Amino acid sequence: MSKSTVSKQQAQKCVVCGFFSEGRLCFRHRLAAKSLLEAYSFWRDALGVSFRDYLQQILRRSETGRWAKELAEYVLKTGDEGVLDEAKV
Ligand SMILES: [Zn+2]
Repeated sequence: MSKSTVSKQQAQKCVVCGFFSEGRLCFRHRLAAKSLLEAYSFWRDALGVSFRDYLQQILRRSETGRWAKELAEYVLKTGDEGVLDEAKV
């Protein structure tokens, strides 16, 4: 009998909010990651800001959504930018 290997797809919790998720981000924070990355490509091209500067700027903006802010705070606090790769799939 072979032991089944532990799948990366097993149920997990969102690293930001702890909500049930299939990856490291729940669907809301995955959506937020997607829009953060899309918006950053404009900022980077137009203003040449680094990703961390960009995150700090959007945290100060009142029009930034709650999910995006939580995600930005998480990435700034932990330096875990790799979590945003979840949104690229
Ligand atoms: Zn979440």
